[in-house]
Amino acid sequence: MEIMKKQISRTSVITGAFMVLWLGVCAFNTPSTPELPAYKLKTVVIDAGHGGHDIGCSGSANNEKTVALKLALKLGEMIEKNYPDVKVIYTRKTDVFVELYERAAIANRNNADLFICIHCNANPNSSPYGTETYVMGLHKTEANLNVAKRENDVILMEDNYNQHYDGFNPNDPASHIIFSLNQHAFMDQSILFASSVEKYLKSHAKRSSRGVKQAGFLVLWKTAMPSVLIETGFLTNSSEEKFLASESGQTTIAESIFYAFRDYKNDMENNSGKVSEATVQAIEANMDKEVETPKTEPVTTSTDNKGLTFSVQFYTAESEASATKFADLKPENVTYVKENGLYKYRLGPYKTLDEATKKQSFARNAGYKDAFVIAVKDGKRISIEEAKALAGS
Ligand SMILES: [Zn+2]
Repeated sequence: MEIMKKQISRTSVITGAFMVLWLGVCAFNTPSTPELPAYKLKTVVIDAGHGGHDIGCSGSANNEKTVALKLALKLGEMIEKNYPDVKVIYTRKTDVFVELYERAAIANRNNADLFICIHCNANPNSSPYGTETYVMGLHKTEANLNVAKRENDVILMEDNYNQHYDGFNPNDPASHIIFSLNQHAFMDQSILFASSVEKYLKSHAKRSSRGVKQAGFLVLWKTAMPSVLIETGFLTNSSEEKFLASESGQTTIAESIFYAFRDYKNDMENNSGKVSEATVQAIEANMDKEVETPKTEPVTTSTDNKGLTFSVQFYTAESEASATKFADLKPENVTYVKENGLYKYRLGPYKTLDEATKKQSFARNAGYKDAFVIAVKDGKRISIEEAKALAGS
């Protein structure tokens, strides 16, 4: 009897526990008390890169701070008009200087759900073009690192930058690696939005997408929400500069980012702010693809001259020159090769020694007194004597 009583009482305790649990589940299932707070994208921060005494990169007639601001204002207006319940915050609405740490702080203070940085790209070579959207992460290619370095260099224009970036030193390559390891928890959302941005830049704005990439951008470093940095095109490429500077070009770029925002907002709100593992994997499989940037003499011009080309080497340095440094040499094609840790800047290539000699005078007149002609055969440097013999044979 004793045992039976015990069993009964135990059974009733268990049944009672189930009842409580069942009632609890019922209570949670009633529509008035949802199980989890539904995700809602309420606040977006739009960050126009650079500003004030920091003009960013420039093309022949346009600079990054101006183009970025126009794009940011257009994008913000589209969101405000179509989503009146979304709060749009700008890190700047005018031509003023805002520190990188302050841009991130604005997003954090406002509990933003998404942080969108808008920039323009640059390259010492005028050939590269296309868009890239970055998320915070460890750079996989030197090209990605170079973009981050250029954008991070801005802090040298800030007062007391040592205090605001935990001792980050933009001149030390190791700095870029150490701080990139500090990845935030919003990687999946960030890459989902980034890939949507690239998708629409390609399909709607008809840009050449260079893809979703990652690198250590100081402006994204300490943000506590999904965040991306969009390089909307190269101001150093003349046709892309024209597009970026035009009213219609700016509108289609802003529209593309807006469509990405719309899709992202819908996606997040329908999936409780979560991104499926399959989606993440599909995006990651295509991330950080190296884009061909012509740095050495293109082989196309050499085939019709026994594989022989001539260039004018006019400048050598230990670090990469800024995109605007050789603006006075336009419209000549400036390329560089990196040899033994040195960046060697050249004009050309040209098909004949004659033409190269003329360009040597041009470079010397432009102030590069030591400019000299080099000969390249099938990608290898040879002496001018050898080249002359080859050309004559
Ligand atoms: Zn920039």
